[in-house]
Amino acid sequence: MDVHCTTCGEPWDVYHLRHDAIYETDLSHAEAKAWTQLSPQIKLLDRYREKFRAVGYEFGGSILNVLRCPACPKDARPDPDKAAMKAGIVELLGDDEDGIAAAMEDFGL
Ligand SMILES: [Zn+2]
Repeated sequence: MDVHCTTCGEPWDVYHLRHDAIYETDLSHAEAKAWTQLSPQIKLLDRYREKFRAVGYEFGGSILNVLRCPACPKDARPDPDKAAMKAGIVELLGDDEDGIAAAMEDFGL
């Protein structure tokens, strides 16, 4: 299942975001592995957001809400309509990552 970047539309595999993307950061292998076991909210603490931002990812309220990604053109801006819909889905479904992924796919987000 894929979700799409709010800014450039690049598809991102849900499994990759949840389990693999963290290894692109400069966290140690052990710390990256530990991260995959954290709860959805802890995964997006500022410390981890900064690590992700350094390699091109920005997320909304969920790791599945990709606002910007490594494929984004430098000056591109997030689509405000898509950003609002995605924020709404995340707010509604909270920590239910499978539900978020399914809803975003249904809406082509
Ligand atoms: Zn992008």
